[in-house]
Amino acid sequence: MTTAPAGEAPAGATAETPAVPLPRPRPAEKPVSPAAAVPAGEVYGPPKPETHAAEPTKPVVPRIYQTACPAVLLGRVEATALPPIADGQCHAQSPLSVTGVLANGRMVPVSGGVQTDCGVASALPAWVESVDSYLLSREQTRIAELVVGTSYMCRNVNGGSSGNLSFHGFADALDVVGFKLEDGRFVTVEGGWANATSPEGRLLRFAHDSACAQFTTVLGPEANAEHHDHLHVDLGCHGKTCTARLCE
Ligand SMILES: [Zn+2]
Repeated sequence: MTTAPAGEAPAGATAETPAVPLPRPRPAEKPVSPAAAVPAGEVYGPPKPETHAAEPTKPVVPRIYQTACPAVLLGRVEATALPPIADGQCHAQSPLSVTGVLANGRMVPVSGGVQTDCGVASALPAWVESVDSYLLSREQTRIAELVVGTSYMCRNVNGGSSGNLSFHGFADALDVVGFKLEDGRFVTVEGGWANATSPEGRLLRFAHDSACAQFTTVLGPEANAEHHDHLHVDLGCHGKTCTARLCE
């Protein structure tokens, strides 16, 4: 048996082709995890999340938690949802832009750019319907439009420089200026309240008193000088158990 000298090709091999081919260089192998060793088509656990390191990550938009208003869902109030209000101590998480309320089978327009919460919006249809029914029976006309002055506004009670925050600062109050009627009249608190026995004076007093059945606070011209030209309505809590009403 002949043995080729070290460094020389064995017998039968040429100088260009070594008799024992050398393996090609291979990339370093990663350690095989048990999951990767599972045969294709078989699953032994939750799939591994795919990672796309090269893709830019999308910014996470935090969810804004707001609540729906059943009176809007049921079609009793015509309104669109507004973003939350956060203005110092004033705030409203789910304010609405109210443009109409259902009364006696039709949508009565509400003007004035009303921003209010679901509670006040939900109390409006029954009140407006009662005033509308009064007009129909006593004046043979109906409400063409409910005219509102101030709704949401971050201010103190009666606009004072000090004192408690008004419920207007929580979108939980409305200042009703008056009623436009289908017969063409525009009955305002400022112009119609003083003459208590006139049709306008009677209408406004009926509106004031019937509001006390739907809201917990109703303030009109008899309450104080600040309310000489509007009816303020809100759903503020009165009494230890929130069951009292303030109707002035
Ligand atoms: Zn007010």
